[in-house]
Amino acid sequence: MFDIPGRVLYNTTRVIARCSMVLDVKRIINTPGGRIPFDFTEDFSDVDFGGVCPAVRPVSVVGQAENIAGMLRLQFDLTTTFSAVCDRCGAPFDLPYKVPFECLLAEINGSVDLSELARETFILNMPSKTLCREDCRGLCSGCGVNLNYEKCRCKKEVDPRLAALAKLLEQ
Ligand SMILES: [Zn+2]
Ligand SMILES: [Zn+2]
Repeated sequence: MFDIPGRVLYNTTRVIARCSMVLDVKRIINTPGGRIPFDFTEDFSDVDFGGVCPAVRPVSVVGQAENIAGMLRLQFDLTTTFSAVCDRCGAPFDLPYKVPFECLLAEINGSVDLSELARETFILNMPSKTLCREDCRGLCSGCGVNLNYEKCRCKKEVDPRLAALAKLLEQ
């Protein structure tokens, strides 16, 4: 059910010892309407996206398991703040991250590995593009200045004849 195509894209070579948050749902299996809330944090600082590990802070996992007509409904939000790097200008910035997850499990074998579920949800929901702001102007491909803060310096390279014309036009 949680197969992830393309998982090989991610860095799985680092082995990190971590304890797993396994939720025991036995006590609500026979109780329609029964709920078990949970609230814990996970360390996903090893999750690598294109050479960057943005989850430097703990990721909070807050949600609940609920018995709905004999099926187990799992719901949680993943929340953290990434240390991101802007795709356009290369500036580091803090990026709020919040992703909801929900699923319905027909078969319950007594426990649910929330850590694994949270990790897979996290990996599948990485932003494909990170911009420091919607209208980031990026770097000039000519002179390399950050166009958010500085003016492009490429003008110097304008053909002297055109520069004369530009001067005329400026007046
Ligand atoms: Zn930017
Ligand atoms: Zn430039």
